[in-house]
Amino acid sequence: MLVLVINSGSSSLKYQVRDVAAGSVLTEGLIEKIGMGNGGDGDGEIVGPRDHAEALEQVDAAIHQELGDLELAAVGHRVVHGGERFAEPVLIDNEITRAIERLNPLAPLHNPANVLGIRAITKKWPEMPQVAVFDTAFHRTLPEHAWRYAVPGELYTDHGIRRYGFHGTSHEYVTRRAAALLDLPVEEFDGVIAHLGNGASVTAIRGGHSVDTSMGFTPLEGLVMGTRSGDLDPSILVFLGRAGWTPEDIDTMLNRESGLKGLAGNNDMRSVVEAAEAGDAKAATALAVTSYRLAKYIGGYHVAVGGAKALVFTAGIGENSHQFRALVAEKLGALGIQLHAGLNAERSKEPRVISTLQSAIPVLVVPTDEERAIAEATAAVVSSVHA
Ligand code: AMP
Repeated sequence: MLVLVINSGSSSLKYQVRDVAAGSVLTEGLIEKIGMGNGGDGDGEIVGPRDHAEALEQVDAAIHQELGDLELAAVGHRVVHGGERFAEPVLIDNEITRAIERLNPLAPLHNPANVLGIRAITKKWPEMPQVAVFDTAFHRTLPEHAWRYAVPGELYTDHGIRRYGFHGTSHEYVTRRAAALLDLPVEEFDGVIAHLGNGASVTAIRGGHSVDTSMGFTPLEGLVMGTRSGDLDPSILVFLGRAGWTPEDIDTMLNRESGLKGLAGNNDMRSVVEAAEAGDAKAATALAVTSYRLAKYIGGYHVAVGGAKALVFTAGIGENSHQFRALVAEKLGALGIQLHAGLNAERSKEPRVISTLQSAIPVLVVPTDEERAIAEATAAVVSSVHA
């Protein structure tokens, strides 16, 4: 079964064509600057597709140039916000598209773009089965004590202000692979998954389900990330508001200028590690703050799951930065966690154990693959509908 996976942003469209049975990528690409240009006519400097429909024409042309004639079985969309309704991937129809659109206020940068991608496909290939795979869905199992903010109830009932969690597709995929690596049925997997990319979140898994996660109402809460601050005292925002900062100023500062970038001047973990090793004090502080925050979460989530059976690292930093993993692990001595220096330093694309035999629980590195998870979920939904 060939599935086109679409990750539609406001001005970009990322795609992959996947052979689900083989687990392989046949072709992939990225269309950028959507709606920023003049579609190629005139002499404007920026050339980009006019809209998502035109971007999809480019994707179609690129796929056919690369692969010749082929029959796509379905399209799987990464959709950021599924709100409280969507706990699983769903087959898209007009009602579902409108439901995703109604969630726009909760994810104003992402859901409108996801809907544009869905509508472009619906227009071009009206008969094509489309499936929405939500970033929030895996966290629909959070118990109320984990998703409630301690604020007046109307904020939840009137505005939907609660913790939703994100990166769910990755956390679920990595949970399944980690359980398999440990030879455990996924229902028996209790553990902590640290997805550390430019965006980063950590999830507490009990019985294979998400029971807490560090991102909240938006992806800003929780860990120190590439350019996001993660947790801070909300009074800082009030203070800045009174000092004349606009909501947009505050939003930009917290989402784009903070995190590693705010602390070390660079949001790339490789550069921050190199700078710290070369003696840069700001970079060293950035690593200390970032690893300490994560270690605190891991300790808390060890409690949340009633004793983790494994700690799992994934995504760009989690999979590749042995230095950062070591910094986190050295703060987890109280949990009896012990990395094996040699195994930790090894480079590999395979899921693997990087702790010593004496470590109280195994520490794993499990590469994530969100597109693969979306393609598999899409194929499963389409097959179940046709069954
Ligand atoms: P992601 O968002 O999952 O693509 O992850 C991006 C982050 O992973 C950036 O901070 C990169 O610096 C980091 N990263 C990618 N490759 C490496 C590497 N080989 N060593 C250290 N960090 C890496």
